[in-house]
Amino acid sequence: MNVVLLGAPGAGKGTQAAVLTKELGVVHVASGDLFRKALSENTELGLLAKSYMEKGDLVPDEVTIEMVLERIRKPDCDSGVLFDGFPRTLSQAKALDEKLASESRQIDKAVYIEVPEEALIKRLSGRWICRECQTPYHAESSPPKVTGRCDVCGGELYQRADDTEETVRERLKVFFSQTLPIVEYYETQGKLLRVDGNQDINEVSAAITRLLRTESA
Ligand code: ADP
Ligand code: ADP
Ligand code: ZN
Repeated sequence: MNVVLLGAPGAGKGTQAAVLTKELGVVHVASGDLFRKALSENTELGLLAKSYMEKGDLVPDEVTIEMVLERIRKPDCDSGVLFDGFPRTLSQAKALDEKLASESRQIDKAVYIEVPEEALIKRLSGRWICRECQTPYHAESSPPKVTGRCDVCGGELYQRADDTEETVRERLKVFFSQTLPIVEYYETQGKLLRVDGNQDINEVSAAITRLLRTESA
């Protein structure tokens, strides 16, 4: 099963991905995580992505598509992928569909996690991420057991440089103008599932799992 997680920055895609990958037995592919890894390793891709990420703009489609398609070529993705943060533009969505179709695969469902704008800003300003495994935490809604340390791997937690209010506002603008059209794209294909993301983390997980079960039954 291949599933796309859609949602504004801060909607809870990374948080839900951690639950869903276990539930569905699929691999988590997060374009933002791939870019941050490239950045931390100072690769050419990382350097290219840096200036866009700092401003909250999208990295150009061509490099983004190439990076993600290369990732899903690896054999661990054969049993299914949970896409998080990709696709973010219509061209990315179409490129992904074409690639999967060429291998007789497809996107089965797209889950759109909807959260009001004020809540998104609150979530992002209190977000902490594990430097090692990228698990997201929140100072209030999802604190780690030990301050500054990841529950999963013990890695150090840090705040992303693009989670400042100014960059968040730009990222939200980009989401509404460039990414929202994809919601309609999947809706037209009959693949869209809408979930109220403005509830507790475990309630959102339960809602997504329920929908995916009913739909694929
Ligand atoms: P968020 O937490 O906002 O969903 P991500 O970690 O997914 O953030 O992305 C962080 C940044 O990485 C984006 O603001 C953008 O610059 C870049 N990026 C991630 N995914 C994509 C994509 N699919 N297309 C273009 N740029 C991307
Ligand atoms: P995204 O990947 O969509 O950008 P994250 O999963 O990183 O979003 O979540 C953004 C922030 O909000 C994190 O600090 C996370 O702990 C917190 N968060 C996620 N889901 C919820 C929720 N349902 N209620 C409250 N806070 C949440
Ligand atoms: Zn960790």
